[in-house]
Amino acid sequence: MRGSVKEKAEYELSPVVVGDDVKVIVEELPPSESELRSGVITEVLPRRTHFAKKKTTLKKEREQIIAANIDQMIIVASVKDPPFRMRLIDRFVITAHQGGMTPVVVINKIDLKHTVDIERAKEIYRSVDIQLIFTSAPSLHGIEELRAVLHDKESVFVGQSGAGKSSLLNAIQPGLKLRTGKISDKSGKGKHTTTVVELFPLEFGGFVVDTPGLRALGLAQLDKWSVDQFYSEIFEASHGCRFSDCRHKNEPDCAVKKAVKEGSIFPERYNSYMKIFDDID
Ligand code: GDP
Ligand code: ZN
Repeated sequence: MRGSVKEKAEYELSPVVVGDDVKVIVEELPPSESELRSGVITEVLPRRTHFAKKKTTLKKEREQIIAANIDQMIIVASVKDPPFRMRLIDRFVITAHQGGMTPVVVINKIDLKHTVDIERAKEIYRSVDIQLIFTSAPSLHGIEELRAVLHDKESVFVGQSGAGKSSLLNAIQPGLKLRTGKISDKSGKGKHTTTVVELFPLEFGGFVVDTPGLRALGLAQLDKWSVDQFYSEIFEASHGCRFSDCRHKNEPDCAVKKAVKEGSIFPERYNSYMKIFDDID
């Protein structure tokens, strides 16, 4: 890195990350060493999207950008084992929006006996224009659809541990060797404790981002505004509440609760919204 790029590291945790578009000056080497191409990064171009995690340094909480310019976040959940939790999916959706990525929700393990109402879930996510894919890693159900989504895009897989991210990636491209980040010691960080991030090429076009530590996290800091943006139907209804600081819980004349009762807001959306606010509190 050229000095001017390095200097940014003083106040920014991630001056250059995987996925960055950069300008480089390639060093001229004698033909005998032409295999050893080296160069200097002179400039990092503006990031279109970013994937960040919270990092606590010296008691200060800062955001560390892990990867840049990733097109989409593939949010993997399962119908059971671990149990289906819409609020967790929705938190990832908000994180994707915050980073400028397109969220895609994948609900895995549909081969198991479960109680998730698939048609209902489709209806809810369709109402907010989010693509929803149902998959089963062993039967390969939905895998073609998932491949089509990944085609020629840069994607990051997130979701609860055990939901089936590694299994799905292996179904998509057998032998795709991601470091599955097996938790192998008590620190819970796995063997490779450094956060080395890599882009893995897909044979049909596209890349998947991988880093051991990234699998389980990916939930960015939430603030009221970014939550309201995702629950736009609730935000809009809230203008009709009697109190401008209505929390849509027990306040009188709450337009949001009225809309839920009348059926113009899905109760599942309302519950997910309320739980996310409980989490923030
Ligand atoms: P990850 O932590 O999200 O990467 O999850 P894994 O891919 O390691 O999967 C966790 C467990 O769920 C493993 O025992 C998998 O064999 C199992 N599993 C993954 N996908 C499916 C699926 O679609 N159906 C069933 N029945 N089991 C699955
Ligand atoms: Zn209200």
